[in-house]
Amino acid sequence: MIFNIHVTGIVQGVGFRPFIYRLAESYGLKGSVINLGDAGVRIKIQGDKDKIYQFIRDIKIKAPPLAKVKEIRIEEIEDREEFQNFSILQSDLEKESQGSITPPDVGICNNCLKELFDEKDRRYLHFFITCTDCGPRFTVIRSLPYDRERTSMRYFEMCDECREEYTNPNNRRFHAQTIACHKCGPKAFLMDRSGKIISNSSVDALKKASKLLAKGNIIAVKGNGGFHIACTAGDDEVVERLRKSLDRKQQPFAIMTRDVNAVERFAFLSGDEKILLTSEVKPIVVLKKKEGSTLISSAVSPGLHTIGVMLPYTALHALLFHWNNIDVLVMTSANKPGYPMVIDNQEALKTLSNIVDYFLMHDREIVQRCDDSVVSFIGNRKTFMRRSRGYVPLPIKIKNRTKEVVIATGPDTDVTFCILRGNQTFLSQHIGDTSHYETMGFFKNALQHFQRLLDVDFSLVACDLHPRFSTTIFARELSEKRDLQMVHVQHHHAHLASLLAEHGLEEMVCITADGFGYGTDGKAWGGEVLYGTFDNFERMYHLQPQPMIGGDLATEYPLRMVAGIIGKEAEEFLFQHADKFPHGEKEIEIILKQIKAKRYPITTSCGRVLDAAASALGICYRRTYEGEPARKLEATATGGKDVLNIKPEIKGNVLDTTLLLETILENIDRYDRKNLAYCAEEYIAKGLAALAIDAAESKGVRHIGFSGGCAYNNHILTTIRRLVEKENYIFLQHQKVPPGDGGVSLGQATV
Ligand SMILES: [Zn+2]
Ligand SMILES: [Zn+2]
Repeated sequence: MIFNIHVTGIVQGVGFRPFIYRLAESYGLKGSVINLGDAGVRIKIQGDKDKIYQFIRDIKIKAPPLAKVKEIRIEEIEDREEFQNFSILQSDLEKESQGSITPPDVGICNNCLKELFDEKDRRYLHFFITCTDCGPRFTVIRSLPYDRERTSMRYFEMCDECREEYTNPNNRRFHAQTIACHKCGPKAFLMDRSGKIISNSSVDALKKASKLLAKGNIIAVKGNGGFHIACTAGDDEVVERLRKSLDRKQQPFAIMTRDVNAVERFAFLSGDEKILLTSEVKPIVVLKKKEGSTLISSAVSPGLHTIGVMLPYTALHALLFHWNNIDVLVMTSANKPGYPMVIDNQEALKTLSNIVDYFLMHDREIVQRCDDSVVSFIGNRKTFMRRSRGYVPLPIKIKNRTKEVVIATGPDTDVTFCILRGNQTFLSQHIGDTSHYETMGFFKNALQHFQRLLDVDFSLVACDLHPRFSTTIFARELSEKRDLQMVHVQHHHAHLASLLAEHGLEEMVCITADGFGYGTDGKAWGGEVLYGTFDNFERMYHLQPQPMIGGDLATEYPLRMVAGIIGKEAEEFLFQHADKFPHGEKEIEIILKQIKAKRYPITTSCGRVLDAAASALGICYRRTYEGEPARKLEATATGGKDVLNIKPEIKGNVLDTTLLLETILENIDRYDRKNLAYCAEEYIAKGLAALAIDAAESKGVRHIGFSGGCAYNNHILTTIRRLVEKENYIFLQHQKVPPGDGGVSLGQATV
């Protein structure tokens, strides 16, 4: 009796075929297994019927840790073929149906780590140690099926020993496509900033790099998905030097620590955070700092109460900690903010040589760029700040199946794109700020990569409502070139839709609060309460429209928001802070004239109000990275009390925010900043919750969601949740895609 078994899901590059081989052997069954590229894996199995049934049952139960079996289709076939044994066949390029998925990169596993530091192992200290369970995937694969020759490992001919392991079904590197060793694998080398080779022997290069780091040098380190810039994290002088040369004045740097024990010396670590930090993904986890720890320089995340931490996720990273007692390193991606991370050796030499002292590189090409993922626990729930390495390109399943193949191009900053096929959405890795030409180039390159991996042709293109976003222009060109239907989706409607899709709902009331989204009236939105379905939405309430004196300048210098919100009465306060304006009193005079003449755009943005509060309280006068004033406001507010207890003032469908700023300024000498910052957040949270509850009641809706960049604020989110749940509504927050703009493309795709 022969059965044809077709398995779809994540069954490539995860040790699935060797697993099937061993399983068949254990039941004494004969047959074959073959990779069908995009279409999954096909097994032919011959033998005793009961044993075959047990075999099929075990496929799902005993599948390897990284495999995700989506569907198993079984048919009995009339086949005269007699199998002599069980064998793994070379994959062919036939694609019978759509279904299989490229796996994401996987952080180094414990078995590999053990071998890495085992003097007797033949891969002792080998920087590119991987196995069937771990290593790069998404970043090395050119096309499916996932075989060595279709990865950037094809140029490294296996040595005899590696080949023996690769072809031995009982070896844990059986069919591990990235198998390598000292003899046959990629080589690491160390260069100085002029490009002169310091060491071209892998172990020596790493050893020297580690020593140079310990001595306070800044080194560009090539990893799996791009370059990082590394330096010691405890030395103020070194970290400040890095800030200066990167021109990142305040933006927090992520750090990498030797192990999880080192983390607990400078940050609080809950059980869930620990599990995530040490998981196979090994993302950056945002943790609460412990006061007074000397292990980390205060320049690493200035003005914030949190710090982003990850563990070594490749052997190369782990080795940097092996010598010289290094416990913590700054490990920040090598790029200007919003620009794509450097991935190419020559490009690194060209663009980073005036930033770093040395380069630690290797000779394996990075096929696809992929930034580190960043995860934070907001309201004690896992929340993506950036969904990238380790998660991409895993699909997110949605409830409704569509016949269209949709490409959604995302917003403008913090962009991801999204491909919808059937009932699966594929969210891209983090792309960045597409107003930069280079970033848009990365966008197009990543899109081609996804198209190749998924083998799709689009039938519909979705984009933002803003006519001048690069992603909108790209969508228009694509729709004209391929004659595709094009759908414009309002930014906050997309936020709402992504939350609907994530939770499998059809309608909800959603608070969408962030920095900026182009409204249907052509104005700037960002503090709205919407009722919506996938098809439609209604803007029910919003924050008070406030002037942005000088337009975008008011985003960079939030005191301009204070000026606009308070108006002429702020004159005295502004002149007291003249030194906080780049052009001093002269600038203030112009601002006052603009207020008088009512020459300014307006916004209902929640982010801008929080920014204004931060600058009114002297917490942050200039925004040097996205969300800076609001994040510092939150850091200041930690542990505060609602000393003012301001009752939200709602007039018609508008929440008054002038009252908030006025009250704060009136009390500025009476209470300390911590409590006033807390009051500002509390007012916004209470106001938005009251509006949302009102909207839900009038629409007869059970679900109230919260999306947008302000949903990263732990205090605001937990306050809204508490108030909403007190009124017996179901509160929803994002857990599969980022609440910020990184999740917008998923909403666009599903509308
Ligand atoms: Zn491994
Ligand atoms: Zn080898």
